[in-house]
Amino acid sequence: MTDSSHQKPLDLLVAGGTVVSGQGRQEAAIGVRDGRVACIGAPESMPAAEETLDVSGKLVLPGVIDPHVHCRAYSSHIDSLADVARSAAHGGVTTMVVFATGEENETMLTTLGRIREEGEAGSVIDFSLHAWIFEDFEYLAEIPKAIDSGVTTFKVMMGYKKRGRGRCIPDEYFYAALDIAGRHGGTVLVHAENGPVIDYLENKAFDAGMDGADFQEYSRPPELEAENVARSIHLADLAGCPLYIVHLTSTLALDEAQRGLAAGKNIVVETCPQYLTLTGDAIREMGAPAKVAPPLREEADIAALWKAIQEGWISLIGSDHAPYTVAQKNDPPFTESPFGAPGIETLLPVLYSEGVAQGRISAERLVQLTSENPARTLGCYPQKGALLVGSDADLVVIDPEGRSTVTAAGQHTNSDYTLFEGWELTGRLEHSLLRGKPLLRDGELVQEPGYGQFVPRAASGAAL
Ligand SMILES: [Zn+2]
Repeated sequence: MTDSSHQKPLDLLVAGGTVVSGQGRQEAAIGVRDGRVACIGAPESMPAAEETLDVSGKLVLPGVIDPHVHCRAYSSHIDSLADVARSAAHGGVTTMVVFATGEENETMLTTLGRIREEGEAGSVIDFSLHAWIFEDFEYLAEIPKAIDSGVTTFKVMMGYKKRGRGRCIPDEYFYAALDIAGRHGGTVLVHAENGPVIDYLENKAFDAGMDGADFQEYSRPPELEAENVARSIHLADLAGCPLYIVHLTSTLALDEAQRGLAAGKNIVVETCPQYLTLTGDAIREMGAPAKVAPPLREEADIAALWKAIQEGWISLIGSDHAPYTVAQKNDPPFTESPFGAPGIETLLPVLYSEGVAQGRISAERLVQLTSENPARTLGCYPQKGALLVGSDADLVVIDPEGRSTVTAAGQHTNSDYTLFEGWELTGRLEHSLLRGKPLLRDGELVQEPGYGQFVPRAASGAAL
């Protein structure tokens, strides 16, 4: 497909590679003009270009959209939004959606405006925001205004009763968020674990002297994830609101999600690379740095999650990047240590290596999971998440034969560890473009902080 009507030469031609979409792959060149994909097709059919990027033998994928990202916002995360963006860019992520968790006494719109400005000033990649749900009806009444401003997704946290405001939302506020968002075209994201029961079990585990993987496994069993997934689906269905279940981890919870999906409920399910690759043994080896919630599970859960990805039950993958330093994790007693781990920079490399190179999923399925489906669910497709004529020219170039080794020292987050230390990965990220401009060139970041733009999103509805 070409656009011979344009007289102006292309700004850039990406030639010689295999262009992968969710539907298939083709040997094709991509012509870029004014930041967008102007044409895709045989190289000889392309208009003249100012510059050519030779990607012979490489795979060309749409830029990764990470839908699940924490930065410092009413939290002690060690990365600011700009820091996360820098790390993300080195991992092939071109758009991220960050949780906009507000300070005490801030309105929802004030928080969204403030964090948007922070991103526009310092983010090197494009970004959007998820509004955070607090237990405050006046605050929830701002949901329609947030949707009008392009923020169409709302995060409900259920799992952390001990961690204060906005961390374990009582049902009436959860339901109000579903009700209001549902009536205005929004989508609610839920961290589905039963916080009050976890709180009770944490106290018991603490009294029994547990302080490691045993504490995590005792206080956050899969039953409390499954129970919350099931009830969240029913509440969302009653309210008529699309539901996005973040970081699903266990076979039991998967059973409940599959029941909902099979019944045609308007839900989508996400998991994360760490839940596809690591078990509770990571805590036994690394200690608190591997403390995440829901906890890392068992081998059988990992197998079930991959199968659900292959069969289409799980349709997106986010990093749940939640960056802390080793000291932040290890200084407090294990039971008090913050939940979360860095991961935005390893999202694509680990998924490519463990998924595509290991033969668990095709490169096409990878594109669905990390680009197309996030864009559709979040309401920015096909501007983002695809390489169609007219889409933003956001792409990553992978050498499928390349190798890399993950080290904390090689990462660009302020966090000083990685859950994947020493992992030898197949597939190497070489270049990326964001809106037609080089973002990564030979693995080096070549854009400045502030290049990233806020991406307003349309009300969409979760179902894919
Ligand atoms: Zn998270």
